[in-house]
Amino acid sequence: MPLPIVALVGRPNVGKSTLFNRIAGKRLAIVEDLPGTTRDRLYADAEWTSVPFTLVDTGGIELTEGVDAGARRGIAPLGVASADFRREIREQAQVAIEEADVIVFMVDARDGITAGDTDVADVLRRTEKPVVLAANKADNEARRLAALEFYELGLGEPFPVSAFHGTGTGDLLDVVVKRLPEIEQDPEDDALKIAIIGRPNVGKSSLLNALIGQERSIVSSVPGTTRDAIDMRLLWENEPVVLIDTAGIRRRGRVERGIEKYSVMRALRAVQKADVVALMIDASEGVTAQDAHIASYALDEWKGVMVLVNKWDLVVKDTYTMHEFTQRIRADFKFIDWVPLLFISALTRQRVHKVIGVAQKIQAERHVRLPTSEVNRVIRRAVDRHRLPSKTGRQLKIYYATQADVAPPVFAIFVNDTELVHFTYRRYLENQIRAHYPFLGTPIKLVFRKRSEN
Ligand code: GDP
Ligand code: GDP
Repeated sequence: MPLPIVALVGRPNVGKSTLFNRIAGKRLAIVEDLPGTTRDRLYADAEWTSVPFTLVDTGGIELTEGVDAGARRGIAPLGVASADFRREIREQAQVAIEEADVIVFMVDARDGITAGDTDVADVLRRTEKPVVLAANKADNEARRLAALEFYELGLGEPFPVSAFHGTGTGDLLDVVVKRLPEIEQDPEDDALKIAIIGRPNVGKSSLLNALIGQERSIVSSVPGTTRDAIDMRLLWENEPVVLIDTAGIRRRGRVERGIEKYSVMRALRAVQKADVVALMIDASEGVTAQDAHIASYALDEWKGVMVLVNKWDLVVKDTYTMHEFTQRIRADFKFIDWVPLLFISALTRQRVHKVIGVAQKIQAERHVRLPTSEVNRVIRRAVDRHRLPSKTGRQLKIYYATQADVAPPVFAIFVNDTELVHFTYRRYLENQIRAHYPFLGTPIKLVFRKRSEN
């Protein structure tokens, strides 16, 4: 289900990622070993007073191609910023305006108003979207008072906060949550929803055109809930399929204009609405940190995932090339070796006809339900093969397991003490389940529950 998006904007070092971590908390990401994801997570689902939303730290969003966000953050000058740099933060603000529902503009109460702040404020004053001004590093009474200075930015009341100490953040979130719009939900429908996501120029629009050109029985394009979003509905082998946010895909497909470079927030929304995410990469470029971010977000949201390696026509190949590519891409996306890769060319249409078929297969896998007897057999065999871990003399015992849900598949495993379940043992059990049934392209959830001995 799509959640409203809250974007944190502001120049580097004001404390965006500190606030982000405080609000998002420490949620265990299932793919925490992916490169550049835990260390520098940019999106998280959070809630305040039971109101859920997606929080985005725009500070980490890579707008300039080929420049590492972390490195850029490190070299970013404080206060007076270079022309390039000032353009960049204005662009960040612009992206937030386009895609977010509420914008939290963060400034530094220790520094006072800087040129960078004024730039962002100039952009933000022009939007109709709600903007909440957070004056961070207001660690003491003097600085909380000094924060009043930010009234001058013309964005209403500055909320003094200390992301570091956690003071004032509650009041800030109260206001943010109050200003979130009601998100209209799309009417329930059985169609398989596919989001095609990838960096600019990887070939998303070309794929879309190839798919639409091939399939004569397009039913309709239906406006999505996001402003400007157009979902394309079609029948594929008599099954209803919706390609999400094709307007966004086409828009990005056009000649690049500044901020349309990579609309991560738009991609997030598409992921939230999707059942299956088709992550497209360019065969000649490989996997970027941004791709890894999107993949980990999709998996965190328990969506089906497939990788499309496009522009395969450009690769000089011999018998081993596909194998070598597969290994390299799998290494880049570390733990997701159960995600299918498809080598395609949107240009020559090589294997384009397989794309939707693979997505349908993944969707079927998400709905597989293993009988309880089978699950227990798998778990018992796993336990026999690999001694159960113990901690300070207590040994883990597994009593019983069952598949509790589908889409995503959830396995409930009843044990004597959930504290005794290590991350490595959890992964071992997941691998054992997958060895029995592969769940192609499908994240599976293992939930451990305490049951007393009887
Ligand atoms: P970002 O670049 O905007 O994401 O900023 P960071 O979150 O990385 O914070 C930049 C620096 O400011 C770090 O050294 C933080 O520890 C520090 N910082 C963040 N919030 C606070 C705060 O509320 N008070 C103080 N004194 N320092 C803070
Ligand atoms: P988008 O920004 O991801 O929508 O990418 P486009 O579909 O606009 O494609 C960007 C460029 O790559 C265009 O010049 C396409 O013609 C080209 N392109 C797309 N797919 C392929 C492919 O499979 N092979 C080759 N050689 N070029 C492609």
